[in-house]
Amino acid sequence: MKKRDLYEVLGVERSATAEQIKKAYRKKAIEFHPDKNPGDKAAEDKFKEAAEAYEVLGDADKKARYDQYGHAAFDGAGGFGGGGHHMNMDDIFSQFGDIFGGAFGGGFGGFGGGGGGQRRMKGSNLRIKVKLTLEEIANGVEKKVKVKRKVQAQGVTYRTCPTCHGSGQVMKVTNTILGRMQTSSPCHSCGGTGQMIDSKPNQADAHGMVMEDETVSIKIPAGVVDGMQLKVSGKGNDAPGSNSVPGDLIVVIEEVEHEFLKREGENLHYDLYISFAEAALGTSKDIEAIGGKVRIKLEEGIQSGKILRLKGKGIPSINSYGNGDLLVHVNVWTPKSLSKEQKQFFEKVLTDDNFIPKPEKTDKSFFEKVKDMFS
Ligand SMILES: [Zn+2]
Repeated sequence: MKKRDLYEVLGVERSATAEQIKKAYRKKAIEFHPDKNPGDKAAEDKFKEAAEAYEVLGDADKKARYDQYGHAAFDGAGGFGGGGHHMNMDDIFSQFGDIFGGAFGGGFGGFGGGGGGQRRMKGSNLRIKVKLTLEEIANGVEKKVKVKRKVQAQGVTYRTCPTCHGSGQVMKVTNTILGRMQTSSPCHSCGGTGQMIDSKPNQADAHGMVMEDETVSIKIPAGVVDGMQLKVSGKGNDAPGSNSVPGDLIVVIEEVEHEFLKREGENLHYDLYISFAEAALGTSKDIEAIGGKVRIKLEEGIQSGKILRLKGKGIPSINSYGNGDLLVHVNVWTPKSLSKEQKQFFEKVLTDDNFIPKPEKTDKSFFEKVKDMFS
């Protein structure tokens, strides 16, 4: 099959700059990306064709050879053309991931977006745990945390790596029984960054990095859940090189257990204990709630197991509007032992018709109440 002209494939002039070529490829890659064109074979072919064109035109050395010899430059070298070699999707994603710059939300390992065919080193992520009380979770909170970050030392300078001339990649041609194979791998001299240290202050490590304490302010929205991870972009470790980008700070939420309130999603549960007498006569009680105590009234003759719902006194939903509820579980407390006089009192009412349980339909069973709670 005759190969199309690579400049034509990307839709750029032969005089296009590296930046224009990269832009053109990025545009094609996004247009024909398989995530956008599921099951479309023609789009997939175009996607591959563009990737193959960019593998050549995005590399100064290969581009020069192509400009001089055309497709013939790669014949028999495991490249393109005569050998019939095609890149597979994995090749494309691993070699050109940096071009996408996160356009598809995928993580592409240690390399971040852009850089004119040159890879851009991304620093590693840092993780910290932040403990939050239920009150802080309910209201949202701004936390200041101290992180130890690896950053480039003040005064460090970099120069282009002489081994790979700044591309971060080295080409290797090996003879195999199938012919000559050409592969590229990260440059060992510079670790794939394309740059080496020119000068650095004494306290910096071999990569020109130092550890630094930084106080980072983290805005935590209301309604977060234990184990949830929040990302603070650019507050992880820095990477060496003049065009590197720092990693992220990953904040892991840890919920501190509340003394009285139990959380269940957006709802809160509170166990209230009252005496026989209080249940029989009715009473008022102060309930521990978010933001302070709430006084509730208990009608005379309230049954043990009754659940009172305080609307909106729960935790805000992180995804939508509105709050959960606070569910107060009424428990009638039975004394463990009685005095002689108390025993006589209860023995007197034991056979009283008024003390014999006569549950009505409205005194729902425990299981029906639970069902109600979640409906
Ligand atoms: Zn290098």
